[in-house]
Amino acid sequence: MSTLVLATGNRGKQREFAELLAGSPWTLRLQSEFEVGPVEETGLTFVENALIKARHAALATGLPTVADDSGIVCDALDGAPGIRSARYSGPQATDEENLQQLLSAMAAVAEGKRSCRYVCVLVYLRHAADPCPIIAEGIWEGRLTRAPVGKGGFGYDPIFWVPGESCSAAQLAPVRKNVLSHRGQALRALAARLNASG
Ligand code: IMP
Repeated sequence: MSTLVLATGNRGKQREFAELLAGSPWTLRLQSEFEVGPVEETGLTFVENALIKARHAALATGLPTVADDSGIVCDALDGAPGIRSARYSGPQATDEENLQQLLSAMAAVAEGKRSCRYVCVLVYLRHAADPCPIIAEGIWEGRLTRAPVGKGGFGYDPIFWVPGESCSAAQLAPVRKNVLSHRGQALRALAARLNASG
């Protein structure tokens, strides 16, 4: 078995990854188990920030690592909130504050221009100086509602309308969300590449 360090302290993400890598030769460990703390995300794109996180964990542990970065992108706002999704209304912002901030920013945007998407980028590094990272991306297209709909999910899910399902992401069963979501798509793509490279 080879150890793979997940560049996060989040146990929910560890569970999602572990499910997808079940049966593979990888044993998943959180960077917090190695006492590695968070790193400043100074990139301007999802892929830069995922690389920064993966490299930080690889430098600190000397082991192969995987990191993710995700967020919601609105066309009418030139891609905002984008990489700032988690802190859109301030450094300590709650999900509800971020969601209200986005509804305000989009208030004057007409129905036909409310396209948006969730994006998730995953980066795998064999070691800190790896010049050939494996990069997997997932994109989930939707439209921004004018008010929250539904109580499930997290983050921007109540205002993310999924046209193909005629409901918001917050109204989807978790299993269905995993099938469709940006994160599910990216995880399956990365797992296939990792399992193949073993
Ligand atoms: P991260 O993947 O933990 O860095 O998440 C970045 C931010 O993007 C989260 O705090 C949420 O605000 C938003 N986000 C990412 N994925 C989702 C999702 O599946 N549903 C709702 N919000 C999301």
